[in-house]
Amino acid sequence: MDVIEKRIVQVIDERRQDIIEFAEDIFSHPELGFKEKRTAELIANRFESLGLYTRKQLALTGVKGYLKSRDQKDKGSEINIAVIGEMDAVRSPYHPKADPETGAAHSCGHHAQLAAMFGAAIALSSPEIAGLLDGNVTFFAVPAEEYGEIEFKISLRKKGLIEFLGGKSELIRLGEFDDIDIALTHHLLFGETEFPVVVGSGSTNGFVSKLVRYIGKESHAAASPHEGINALNAAVLGLSALNFQRETFKDSDCVRLHPIITKGGDLVNVIPGETVIEVLVRARTLEAILDANAKATRAFEAGAHAVGAQLEITDLPGYLPRIPETTTSPFLDAAQQLVGMEKVKQRSPLEHGAFSSDVGDISHLLPVFSFSTGGTVGEPHSANFAVVDPEVAYILPAKIMARLSHKKYRF
Ligand SMILES: [Zn+2]
Ligand SMILES: [Zn+2]
Repeated sequence: MDVIEKRIVQVIDERRQDIIEFAEDIFSHPELGFKEKRTAELIANRFESLGLYTRKQLALTGVKGYLKSRDQKDKGSEINIAVIGEMDAVRSPYHPKADPETGAAHSCGHHAQLAAMFGAAIALSSPEIAGLLDGNVTFFAVPAEEYGEIEFKISLRKKGLIEFLGGKSELIRLGEFDDIDIALTHHLLFGETEFPVVVGSGSTNGFVSKLVRYIGKESHAAASPHEGINALNAAVLGLSALNFQRETFKDSDCVRLHPIITKGGDLVNVIPGETVIEVLVRARTLEAILDANAKATRAFEAGAHAVGAQLEITDLPGYLPRIPETTTSPFLDAAQQLVGMEKVKQRSPLEHGAFSSDVGDISHLLPVFSFSTGGTVGEPHSANFAVVDPEVAYILPAKIMARLSHKKYRF
């Protein structure tokens, strides 16, 4: 490590407690996608206190903090690197830290990304380091990575507040990635304890989202059920038909169909007049997504047809499949120097994850480099998820992020 790199590590170590408290504050105040108002305010205040040129309310709640204002962008290099941190939590009501009103909890660990972003911002904005950097670094807090609450997001869309239901997708539409040349992302690792740091990325699934609404006819559930049209029965048949599609999918397409019923009826005494299903249709390629989506539509139509209910289906773009990183990860060297060669794994570009992220969308526009760190126990999106090692979850990724913005690692 050279003098600047040592100083980056030193500054982050000096502010260790501040970074951990920042992470724990966000962990204790989880907010769902496009509702991250407190989180955004906290981040904007920190950016401003570090002297960053700060822009707020991007795609409703996103925050950008520029190390150098765009007007002062370094003449010698046009490169502007974005250090990305996702702000949203998951609805995970059984988590011990869940918000009692909204059920939101940081059970995907996005608070750790924000801690890494904040720690990197502390180091890179300190005068003796900032003055030696060429180009620009943008610390970019982005909303709504988790694609839940589809009805709520469609209501925002109807009001003209957003067009796409994912934060990065919407920020792309708004042009907020136009001034970014390279994006860096971090995520916590789940269940992989062998290596505390994994660098690089394989491909991931893309998806289409569906909001399915069955409209039946209410009647007294005991006295006159024959007068009603049971929208719940239509939904149950539609979901059964959906499951019968599964044998038609090729294993290599990694299709995932996962519906929930968000409204099953109004009162047990009343034949359900309306039921609502949200479902994501995921697959590895656009062709496989379209094929699975057509089958899903047919299945839901079958439920309506059998019962005589009406059906409304709203299909919306989800996220694109992620393009894998095919080069040696630029994080590899920085991570190995910090924790030792034997503790860093380079992920193969051939690895495929059946999950999705709106990072997939930006991978189609500009280079994206990702890494993950451990320090967790439990399953993602579940009640038993917890950070048990703040050093690996919060401090180490801050150091890796900050060191990658050093000119030595410039691409
Ligand atoms: Zn997640
Ligand atoms: Zn996540």
